[in-house]
Amino acid sequence: MSARTPHLTAKLQGFGTTIFAEMSQLAVATNSVNLGQGFPDSDGPREVLDAAIDAINGGLNQYPPGPGMPVLREAISRHQQRFYGLAYDPDTEILVTAGATEALAGALLALLDTGDEVVTLEPMFDSYAPCISMAGAVSKPVTLRPPHYGIDPEALRAAITPKTKLILFNTPHNPTGRVFTREEVQLVADLAIEHDLLVITDEVYEHLVFDGVEHVALASLPGMRERTLVVSSGGKTFNTTGWKIGWMCGPAAVVAAVRTAKQFLTYVNGGPFQPAIAVGLDLPDRFYADLAADLQAKRDRLMPGLLRAGFEVFPTSSTYFVTVDIRPLQPDGDGMAFCRALPHRVGVVAIPTEVLYQNKREGRHLVRFAFCKRLDVLDEAVERLQRLG
Ligand code: PMP
Ligand code: GLN
Repeated sequence: MSARTPHLTAKLQGFGTTIFAEMSQLAVATNSVNLGQGFPDSDGPREVLDAAIDAINGGLNQYPPGPGMPVLREAISRHQQRFYGLAYDPDTEILVTAGATEALAGALLALLDTGDEVVTLEPMFDSYAPCISMAGAVSKPVTLRPPHYGIDPEALRAAITPKTKLILFNTPHNPTGRVFTREEVQLVADLAIEHDLLVITDEVYEHLVFDGVEHVALASLPGMRERTLVVSSGGKTFNTTGWKIGWMCGPAAVVAAVRTAKQFLTYVNGGPFQPAIAVGLDLPDRFYADLAADLQAKRDRLMPGLLRAGFEVFPTSSTYFVTVDIRPLQPDGDGMAFCRALPHRVGVVAIPTEVLYQNKREGRHLVRFAFCKRLDVLDEAVERLQRLG
């Protein structure tokens, strides 16, 4: 743990500055190719962008309703039905949030009491551990290990104690690119039912899945709709990560509880972007297929380049990300030092996966590269990485 930060509450000691901010800043300062923070470098569908422009020009510039604009809640409801066969009442079972980040923060703050435990999978998205801590609760991580990053059933079982309140389950998974199998998702469901737990699913990468692999929505398994809070957002699906339009779907009582916390965080956000994301959610299947195919092609461009540069590269079938073991190139396996030096050595930025682990040693030698970039940008990064050898 790093040195004590003055003024900062004990709950947030050790969390410092997010790695994404640090690395994006370094990318700008060193004029590097930024394969760190996951954001695409091209715009999403024209219809979605135009809908936001029309909304601004049409005067939709004041506070939207607390739960989100009806037009968006209705589109989210149709989306859950269309892709997962799940019916949610737009008025009582859907809540629009400031990105998935606020949906997760609001849910954790609303549902956790001091001392409660949350079962997580590590590596995990960087906001999970601090939000659990801000809620006064404790994250109990189950470690996923390369090359396949599957769930060890015994480790998952062992992580559940009488203090466990909920499971926080991210699939498709950042940073590993793992899409958990139907068996793995069923195991989470079985344990949640056996121990009477709620599950928060983080499905922000639900449409960024490759190779014909199926994303299994936990809420669609028998007995799970009533104990699952689904979180997603429009950022990745429509290349609009800066708009921060997210949502949650779940049983009315759970959504009502979370609404209480959420209303005191941002209250509402992104008025004119809400109807625009609604337009996106109703786009035809072709759009969704093309989105995944485009990213799959980008993955297939970057991965061989990383192999040629000398990394051990692990398979990924979703998200924006691929993880590597740096030890063939840096035998001491210090991923943090490697990533801090990489922009200066060859002009490329990546994320040291260590920061996404509670058990830091598990991720020390692992590094994440983002492939959600134009092909010429990926080619430039690969060319630069060849100089490492
Ligand atoms: N969960 C995961 C797994 C993510 O990778 C991200 C973001 N990049 C988020 C949540 C946050 O999503 P948003 O930008 O919609 O807040
Ligand atoms: N989700 C993106 C990533 O994992 C960035 C999120 C952020 O900057 N908070 O890289």
